[in-house]
Amino acid sequence: MAAPLDKVLARLDRVKPAGKSRWRAQCPVHDGHSLQVTEADDGKVLFKCWGCDAPAAEICRALGLELRDLFPYDPALRSIPSRPRLTAELREQLALDRWLGHICLYDLFLDRPVSDRDLDCAATAFNRLRRYRPHFFDEAARVHRLEVSR
Ligand SMILES: [Zn+2]
Repeated sequence: MAAPLDKVLARLDRVKPAGKSRWRAQCPVHDGHSLQVTEADDGKVLFKCWGCDAPAAEICRALGLELRDLFPYDPALRSIPSRPRLTAELREQLALDRWLGHICLYDLFLDRPVSDRDLDCAATAFNRLRRYRPHFFDEAARVHRLEVSR
């Protein structure tokens, strides 16, 4: 994964160093040699065109980049799946969570004492279920209402 600065400089023309972490280049928007490119300490790239004052988004578009290309790769952000992917391991864990969740709910509905440790485990299980198996809670409500009314 190339650093934002490398991606940007590779696409600019007439690039010249202009101080620490700073370059001068031809502005792709108005074609004058007045684009200032700065690499911030965190690795993101900042644009300032002294000729046309084009916004960063417009400069990116002219370079065939997206705004997000100006920001360093953040593995923590990208590893959040937009839709949860179920691995075999996770499926197994969720089956266990369901089972644990039902036992815990069963005890709670019947007013049986549940230890803090079991509640902790159940809370973790419920959080996972809420994310990956939202139907669990409808199912549980149905099942346990039946169990209790019997
Ligand atoms: Zn410009």
